[in-house]
Amino acid sequence: MGFYSRLSALIPKQSCVLCEENAKFCVCHECESSFSNHQPRCLSCAHPITGELDFCGQCLAHAPAFNRAYTLYDYQDAIADLIKAFKFHHQLCIGDYFSHQLFDLYQSIISTDIQYDAIIPMPLSRNRMAERGYNQVLELLNVIRKKTDIIIDVHSVDRTKATQPLSALNPEQRKQEIKGAFSVKPMSYSRILLVDDVMTTGSSLNELASTILKNTEVKYCDVMTLARAESKFN
Ligand SMILES: [Zn+2]
Ligand SMILES: [Zn+2]
Repeated sequence: MGFYSRLSALIPKQSCVLCEENAKFCVCHECESSFSNHQPRCLSCAHPITGELDFCGQCLAHAPAFNRAYTLYDYQDAIADLIKAFKFHHQLCIGDYFSHQLFDLYQSIISTDIQYDAIIPMPLSRNRMAERGYNQVLELLNVIRKKTDIIIDVHSVDRTKATQPLSALNPEQRKQEIKGAFSVKPMSYSRILLVDDVMTTGSSLNELASTILKNTEVKYCDVMTLARAESKFN
């Protein structure tokens, strides 16, 4: 049975959506251990890097508006399938699994000396929200919301411009397309963490971070994503 037909079939609660073996969540340990997370990564944009430097060439040339980027996986193979199944087919068990993984990542980030005043999930445009019925990024924050006191702010930023899908555009076109896409309300936080599902060139997160930094009292902005996609333009 293929991956998508397995998903649409009735999956017994305790089995892996990838291999159908027994699993605590909907992904078993064996499949989990095959997920790729290349190290080291650029401290600034989480792109895999080699060598001695902490940053990739791109960030050394043009640092993004956010300070640090944290991610869990490379966007490829089974992870790409799982994210698509969650995002476009609303597979809640996968969202729940990812939500636990993001909670662990968040815990490890704040166990260093970094503390945030709020988490801001990447907003969807009204049209996309109406079409999809939910913001998948917000669902990824379910476990963090349940287990911590951090403010998850969904009211202070809005996506006011409906952009065309950025995946077909090169980095320059992406930057143009996303420019002015967000509006922000005053916020009194100093340090925030922006969250999105997948980061490719980072143009959406960069535009959101730079809009917030320019228009509010926020001084420091990091980003956390489920996966980092290889931009074919990098
Ligand atoms: Zn499995
Ligand atoms: Zn970088």
